[in-house]
Amino acid sequence: MNTVTQAILHQSRSIDRLVEGVATSDGAGVSLTRILTGKLQRRLDPFLMLDAFGSDDPDDYIAGFPDHPHRGFETITYMLAGRMRHRDSGGHEGLLEDGGVQWMTAGRGAIHSEIPEQKEGVMEGFQLWLNLPASNKMAAPWYRDFPREAIPEYVTQDGVKVRVIAGSSNGVTGVMTREVTEPLYLDIHIPAGSLFSTAVPVTHNAFIYVYRGAVDVDGVRVDSRRMGILSNTAGADGVDIRASGGARLVLIAGKPLNEPIVQYGPFVMNTQEEIHQALDDFRSGRLA
Ligand code: MN
Repeated sequence: MNTVTQAILHQSRSIDRLVEGVATSDGAGVSLTRILTGKLQRRLDPFLMLDAFGSDDPDDYIAGFPDHPHRGFETITYMLAGRMRHRDSGGHEGLLEDGGVQWMTAGRGAIHSEIPEQKEGVMEGFQLWLNLPASNKMAAPWYRDFPREAIPEYVTQDGVKVRVIAGSSNGVTGVMTREVTEPLYLDIHIPAGSLFSTAVPVTHNAFIYVYRGAVDVDGVRVDSRRMGILSNTAGADGVDIRASGGARLVLIAGKPLNEPIVQYGPFVMNTQEEIHQALDDFRSGRLA
């Protein structure tokens, strides 16, 4: 694994707001926590949704997500533990396993299923929805599975281990890069008493979600299962994250599109007319 010397920041972002997720159920009855909900879409543009799932009770996940459509954005599924089988209308099929990432660009339309391939044990991970710019919403769908070993990792001199899913951090570039929204997506494991620092472009909206332990950002504590929205402080060149007792979290950032967002369930477009078109295309079998 790469050992890197982490950034020394001029000024860290701070916590703008703490958010507790909303317990909900989606698909055929999968229990999950919706962390990034519709009302945060403008504040966290270009991100539309973040769901966390995590349970060792098969009743919470076994039904999975049978065939359903998407149009106008990308879905990024990051599996911490468990096995999920994916099939889509483009003829793609893949098995997402511990530490793996699935990146799907729905573009003009994809119909897919996401079904657990285990009857017991822990299923844990995240699904993030990343918006597409108007010019790419009707692009051809695209899909890739990245197994654990394909995800670049680094460790800092303080022993912080970072998996770089998208974008670049401390000189290490992730498995995915995207123009326009320039997403940064890191999974960060901080040992007790260590500090993690990374640059985050000043243009980006950014947040963290802590899934083990607790962290401290500029004097504000962010507990487990809490999102901390990072301030867009002028002049802040990144974020310093401390964990006195050790922690694991994701850091997600992206450049806002500043375009109208019109969502109807699994379709996210710029206008109501485009939503009507998506529904029409889906009902008549022309979506995918
Ligand atoms: Mn889906």
